[in-house]
Amino acid sequence: MNDLVITNGQVLLACGVVQDIDVGVRAGRIAQIGEHLHGSRTIDARGAYVLPGLIDLHTHGIGFESCDSETLHGYARAEAERGATTFFPTIFAPPARAIEQMQRHRRATDDLAALPQVGGFRLESPYLAHAGGGLTRDLAPITAETTQALLEAGGGHIKIWDISPELPGAPDTIRQLSALGIVCSLAHTHATIDQARAAVAAGARLVTHLFDTFVVPQMVDPGVYPAGLTDYLLTEDRVVCEIIADATHVAPLLVEKTFRCKTANGLVFVTDSNYGAGLPAGRYTLPNDWGRIAIDGPNNGVRLVDRGMTLAGSALTPIDALRNAVRIFGKDIAIASRVCSTTPARLLGLNKGDIAVGKDADLILVDDDLRVLYTIVAGTVVFAA
Ligand SMILES: [Zn+2]
Repeated sequence: MNDLVITNGQVLLACGVVQDIDVGVRAGRIAQIGEHLHGSRTIDARGAYVLPGLIDLHTHGIGFESCDSETLHGYARAEAERGATTFFPTIFAPPARAIEQMQRHRRATDDLAALPQVGGFRLESPYLAHAGGGLTRDLAPITAETTQALLEAGGGHIKIWDISPELPGAPDTIRQLSALGIVCSLAHTHATIDQARAAVAAGARLVTHLFDTFVVPQMVDPGVYPAGLTDYLLTEDRVVCEIIADATHVAPLLVEKTFRCKTANGLVFVTDSNYGAGLPAGRYTLPNDWGRIAIDGPNNGVRLVDRGMTLAGSALTPIDALRNAVRIFGKDIAIASRVCSTTPARLLGLNKGDIAVGKDADLILVDDDLRVLYTIVAGTVVFAA
């Protein structure tokens, strides 16, 4: 007997969307896919898509929640409302504050066991060559002591670690962290192609928001078109590239170029969402030193009102990224799901990201407009519209 059966949905399977089929869930996993299934609870999905839950590898905050919040519970709730069944709270802070945040969130969640939506921590700082947003106080040189202190505070829960390949000590640290199963991501860099190659040879497997914080190559000889770091990364099959999928941070033409170079198996849509993401259009005063921000929909970023409306991160949410894949970037629902669920799951080695027997029952039900109706994590409904 299934604990839960989702009936009559348009279910996205490996072969494509299948109409009017049931999905049975038992003990947190997908147990059956077929017709006329029975369970102790039923959700009628008639007219809705049943998709793998969305996985956001890169998010700093949503609504009024962030890693600075007292607990991650509100963050997880807000992510669930917007279709994320797994997210990686991404810390951008000096080492001491990153350590405090990880320790606090582990204590409050029985070492994250209480929040299965949290896939682990991501450290975007401190090992960056430049901040991009001007937050240089959050950066620190690579040292064995800092690495060790951060690893201890994470307690095995740091899953993604951003590093600029040109920093002294970067290849050795990438080798050390990769051996621990941490995905190292090339980030915020002006490295040469050779420096990036050395980082990939050392084990780096992800590229942090491709194009954003990378430099456009300088033309030296007007007769020679130069190749830049992004050109190397677009043609390096060992790395997956993430893109902030709001069509503001990266132009649609470059998103299409990335699809053609990497395919959907080498591309991940992320939100890089900040405080304010997901809030209705308007002006808000945020906690800490963010001040007043303006939000104008999911695709126009978070803008600082008192600093000439400067872009201060993304206002995208996971479901908006999926919707943009279809509406702005012109992909079908299967490709959209791949860059928002399947590819991030494979990169992180998660038993998620597809609807198949044996996979974790992390699912979303969305209507024709791609609005979230239900979010299900490990077989439990965590959000219902
Ligand atoms: Zn970020």
